Amino acid sequence: MSKLSDLAVGLLLLAPAAVPAAPAAPEAPVTVIRAGTLIDGKSAAPRRGQVIVVRGNRIESVGDAAAARIPEGAKVVDLSRATVMPGLIDCHTHIFLQGEDPAEGGYDVQLLKQGLAFRAARATVSVRRALEQGFTTIRDVETEGAGYGDVGIKQAIEKGYIPGPRMFVVTRAISSTGGYNLEDYAPEVVVPKGAQIVDGPVEARKAVREQLEQGADWIKIYVTHRSWVDKQGNLFSQPTFTLEEIKAIVDEAHGWGKKVACHGYNGVGLQRGLDGGCDSIEHGLELTDANVAQMVKQGTWLVPTMSPYYDHWAPEGTPEGARDRKRAEVHGPSLQKAMKAGVKIAFGTDVGGFSWNDPIAREFSRLIEFGMTPLAAIQSATVRAAELLGMSGEIGVVAPGAYADIVAVSGDPLADVKVLGNVGFVMKDGKVYRDEIR
Ligand SMILES: [Zn+2]
Repeated sequence: MSKLSDLAVGLLLLAPAAVPAAPAAPEAPVTVIRAGTLIDGKSAAPRRGQVIVVRGNRIESVGDAAAARIPEGAKVVDLSRATVMPGLIDCHTHIFLQGEDPAEGGYDVQLLKQGLAFRAARATVSVRRALEQGFTTIRDVETEGAGYGDVGIKQAIEKGYIPGPRMFVVTRAISSTGGYNLEDYAPEVVVPKGAQIVDGPVEARKAVREQLEQGADWIKIYVTHRSWVDKQGNLFSQPTFTLEEIKAIVDEAHGWGKKVACHGYNGVGLQRGLDGGCDSIEHGLELTDANVAQMVKQGTWLVPTMSPYYDHWAPEGTPEGARDRKRAEVHGPSLQKAMKAGVKIAFGTDVGGFSWNDPIAREFSRLIEFGMTPLAAIQSATVRAAELLGMSGEIGVVAPGAYADIVAVSGDPLADVKVLGNVGFVMKDGKVYRDEIR
């Protein structure tokens, strides 16, 4: 046994939830789940009394309990008093961020004082937290100075060394000079950056090639950076790239069959992102009528990430405090405008921006607060998120042929969405990671 394998075994002993990589079984094990209520992700209404047959890592059949045939030798999981759903999908996470606790030095300390091994160790906890909370897939949108660490964590999950969700990763993210942290150090001091900084279409295209070469599944760019409240009392966001630079990035990514997620708040930067062909707008704090019309026309997704804008505000009476309050003030109406116009919306939380110990599912309550129905909110984190990720029919649904990513909660999330904060059963890829519903 190699040293690497010894290390892997050690890690497994430390992590009780971990599942070792199993050798290919001659005959795939069969698990039967009895679902009291099934919200399958795509149907307009839940169904009662369903039986889900899982063979290996795929769902083989879903049907009425009365007519179901239980295959011989199958393991039966009784969730007949629970609500069963597809594994949840968070389209905007940061496993290499930990809530930037100011008491521990905030964002900058991570890049200046924490080594990559330390940060990677904490990221293994982040991905376990995601899985424990029922998020069986995440799109992780930037390592914040931790290079290609997300690719490594993803590999460790796929090889079975650590428990975690399916991952779509963007690696380093891209912005322009003056367009990302760390900032505000003496000009003589060279500090690391949380994103890859490029200027001009040639550098921009090259960064996309580098990141795709190293394993990026998506490209993430910043089309706006700093924001503040201007003299007229409006939210103003500093643009980063020119239209020419964004077009080079999008063209290169699309040429590889990959998509581009664009962090954008409002204004000219957001407009350039849309004109440049961004595939998803992240945050979209203040979309205009023209923005949403263009998004509908182009099929651009919105990943609104509501939750982090409603807490941890800077003190009132400071420019940062005014900015934080303004962001929250415009964000709700912006989401409502997008929903009304029919913009495609996928669930994303920005977890990592807040602590992985906070419930990721709190985002559902925010979406509903601004008028999304509970079923639409669940679908934004299942079938719609799968569509964003190009995984329709494979994840985000409980249906024959899909991967066996299945979760369950006690209670009815359509009546009280808060129960999604207490996922008691988690299966990913046919393996059970949590089984606490009785
Ligand atoms: Zn983010």
